Amino acid sequence: MELQTPAEGILKTNDWGDAKVYHVVCDCGADDHTHNLWVEADDIGITVSIYATVKSPWWSMNRWKQIWTLITKGYLEHQTVLTINQQTALNYAETLKTAIKDVEIFRQQRLSKKDTANQVAVKLSEQSDCV
Ligand SMILES: [Zn+2]
Repeated sequence: MELQTPAEGILKTNDWGDAKVYHVVCDCGADDHTHNLWVEADDIGITVSIYATVKSPWWSMNRWKQIWTLITKGYLEHQTVLTINQQTALNYAETLKTAIKDVEIFRQQRLSKKDTANQVAVKLSEQSDCV
């Protein structure tokens, strides 16, 4: 089994060079099971953020019990689950690895440009008569 292109279950929604965004879709198709995957590079390093937006399941639970829990605990707990098949899992892993490599290349290029700019600034300040 190999990475598919385009990858089943993985949808790239944005790419700014130093940041890539993907939707990882659940096999059941439920929108609140979808995970959003952000791979971002900055001067410090690379971060991967995974989040999902969940909805309160008001229709399946006793509303008064939820209201009571909210009043007594101050919060409600909700979970989401992403269920993906073997091929999508492989696509997910390969997409993550590739995205990390891509943003790292972008980050290194940006850092080398900063180094060049700093070296030019140092040379200019050394050549300057100003004190
Ligand atoms: Zn699902």
